[in-house]
Amino acid sequence: MSPAAEEHAILDPALAKPFPQAVLPVLRNPQLRKNVAHAIDVIQGKRAKLVAEKADWQELRTAAAAIRSHALDNLGFYLEQFEARCTVAGGHVHWAADAAEARQIILDLLRQEGASEVIKIKTMTSAEIQLNPFLEASGVRTYETDLAEIILQLGDQEPSHIVVPALHINRAQVREIFARKMGLENLSDDPKELTNAARTYLRRKFLDVPTAISGANFLIAESGGVAVVESEGNGRMCLTLPKTMITLAGIEKVLPRFQDLEVMLQLLARSATGERMNPYTSLWTGVAPGDGPQNFHVVLLDNGRSSILARPTHRQTLKCIRCAACMNTCPVYRQTGGHAYGSVYPGPIGAILTPQLAEMHHAQSLPFASSLCGACYEVCPVKINIPEVLLELRSEVVNQERKQVGRIFDPMYLGLRMANVLFSKAWIFHTAQWFGRIGLRFFTGKDGWIHWLPSVGGKWTQTRDLRGLPSQTFHGWWASRPKEGK
Ligand code: SF4
Repeated sequence: MSPAAEEHAILDPALAKPFPQAVLPVLRNPQLRKNVAHAIDVIQGKRAKLVAEKADWQELRTAAAAIRSHALDNLGFYLEQFEARCTVAGGHVHWAADAAEARQIILDLLRQEGASEVIKIKTMTSAEIQLNPFLEASGVRTYETDLAEIILQLGDQEPSHIVVPALHINRAQVREIFARKMGLENLSDDPKELTNAARTYLRRKFLDVPTAISGANFLIAESGGVAVVESEGNGRMCLTLPKTMITLAGIEKVLPRFQDLEVMLQLLARSATGERMNPYTSLWTGVAPGDGPQNFHVVLLDNGRSSILARPTHRQTLKCIRCAACMNTCPVYRQTGGHAYGSVYPGPIGAILTPQLAEMHHAQSLPFASSLCGACYEVCPVKINIPEVLLELRSEVVNQERKQVGRIFDPMYLGLRMANVLFSKAWIFHTAQWFGRIGLRFFTGKDGWIHWLPSVGGKWTQTRDLRGLPSQTFHGWWASRPKEGK
């Protein structure tokens, strides 16, 4: 595989390595881990402060969970309402069953416009369908306009976080990328200078490129409108200056009423970036003559979402509003960053969403990339019970593997059968203990620890040491202790 293809394969669940393998280079990269930990500490600190000042935080979470559940339970109705209202307002709605269809619809629309270039405001859904490589291969140049996305695009890197995609990169690394790709040798790593360099680079694109692609944070069914929240204003430039706007959105993004935004926006900004209100909230509905884009298209993407919707426990996955609070609090994400998840959706939400979008053909290792501590559930503004879905997915993976290898060769099945025999009689258990104790002595070091075990036991010692067994069992010690009064 070429280096460029390998770079894209990082976030393609069909090509990405399993989590335990993908994580190894990250664990050996102290700079990356430092960058991730530092950025998360800053966001977490801000979030905790702002959540604490909202006395009705839990009520807001309950309301948001109810709104999202209601929207999903009546998704067909609200999507049709969105389509009807958006069409009346002058927009065109397109339905895409999968990634390939969505890519083709967008390419056809760009060709109708004669577009050879397109500006984009951050859209994870476009990364999900691998839109950029497809458009580039079809002769359309793509320009990201979100600052973090520019850094990644110019640096040929993939996002590692859903709100702060370049979280793993520090400003010295940003300076190096900008200096190299923008030909600015004397650029310093002063944030103001870096921002100015990006601004100069972007202004030309905003003014010259007449076609744009956006994502959507929310689709409003009652008005047929679209909402995008962002922090820099680049999104707003991207949404207002071009002649043609193509919005790509997952079908689950729909909210029934405009009023529902009141709840969602209070939760989203605080959970995502630790702000009371995000700096730019753009809302647009259809086409307004002489103001903003005059051609407006919405591509509604399914790509596995209907299958998730059909399953009661799994359905809650689609409530997600992509705030990233779950990954910021996750002890696993904190150590690994996002690339190890092999998907545009990393962290706890990625661990449940990616395997479902990939229909469990790939990414089977992701549901196990969790300690099941439940921190993600506690912070989730729409109350997605991520541990519950993780457990469901784990059982599906085990059943799938069992079917593939046959029950008789399944290590889990064999282990449980053996445990059944061992625990059935005290004398069998004590005999097994005795043999186990003798066997483990060969692997126990002088320091009393086991640093290496063969075969399945090696999965434990690969990442941690194991305390050697003491010379006496508790039962042995109890039986041999001096008795009272004797
Ligand atoms: S699962 Fe919850 S916490 Fe995680 S990104 Fe989605 S909404 Fe935010």
